[in-house]
Amino acid sequence: MEGFHVKGSEALCLGLSLAASGLLYYLYKKNKTALDKLDIAPHLPIDSQLKDILKATPGACLKYAIVEGTVQPVGEPLMSHFQKETAGVLQKFTLSEHRLVWSNLTRTWIDNIRVLLQRENAVPFVLVGPDETPVRVLSPLQASGTHMEMIHEKFHQVSSGLVDIVGQYLSGEKPKGQLETEEMLKVGAALIGAGELVLAADGTLSLQPPSDGSEYFLSLVDFDSLQGELKSAAYWCQWLAVASALLGTAVLVWVCRRYYCHRKAQRQLEEERRIFERMSEEPRASVNLVEEQVENICVICYTEPRNCIIMDCGHVCCCYSCYQALVQRKCPICRQDISRVLPLHFV
Ligand SMILES: [Zn+2]
Ligand SMILES: [Zn+2]
Repeated sequence: MEGFHVKGSEALCLGLSLAASGLLYYLYKKNKTALDKLDIAPHLPIDSQLKDILKATPGACLKYAIVEGTVQPVGEPLMSHFQKETAGVLQKFTLSEHRLVWSNLTRTWIDNIRVLLQRENAVPFVLVGPDETPVRVLSPLQASGTHMEMIHEKFHQVSSGLVDIVGQYLSGEKPKGQLETEEMLKVGAALIGAGELVLAADGTLSLQPPSDGSEYFLSLVDFDSLQGELKSAAYWCQWLAVASALLGTAVLVWVCRRYYCHRKAQRQLEEERRIFERMSEEPRASVNLVEEQVENICVICYTEPRNCIIMDCGHVCCCYSCYQALVQRKCPICRQDISRVLPLHFV
């Protein structure tokens, strides 16, 4: 690798594309595994027979099952900050700052969002079936899936004066405003849950995160839509991982090609150097002949005889030492690119 350097931009592209393809492949596998698990998991109605099914199961535990029921709080529900009549069991309040930031790379203003505050609250709740059989939902904040709906969204716009606008252009940051949102899992919502189903010794049914590391889902959408979301995510992750890996391979091929060209040029220079070295060791009779002819003196140093044929233009104008000292590989006479040099022999 002597004299050859991988450029910073090439290393960055290669690193980013390989990291992105690795991450996307991991997400694809995660979604695909979750999808396969959901496909084979038993879909059980919440009713009085559920306890009998679990009693007949070893360890009174189903490692992965899907249940569907209506959300009911165990004690007092949570009340919305913004819609006073709305009660729920999970609540997420977010305050985020929206601004435009000047990008020197793209020469445009880019949207930037910064979360200033996020708070999640939960109270114990159950899923109840048509005959009021309850299934306690444990650790709901660990679950994936869309299980909260947006019940409040308000954007507080920033008003800027002339002085502020000038300051924003100088600093490269334009505040747009703050967005406050409140999401809730409402009491009475129909919820689908996929996880480990357990019957405790006291007869309580519970849904909890699977102990084998499978994905725990709580979702407001129906089962088919949940599968559709996972399929779509897996599909995009798969193709983006392939595209990212192809980009990484293309960068790698480009770097290898550059290295090959660099090595080829170095070998050629080495070959030329050896030829001229051999020539300098030959008897000087022919050189003496050249020295007698002033017009055959190197046009650069005016000392040594001309002994190089510059290819492809064919000019014979300098000695090998001066050729080696050229800053650019261009003919000193016609400025054409030099592909190689040949030794000039007088006989
Ligand atoms: Zn010279
Ligand atoms: Zn030339």
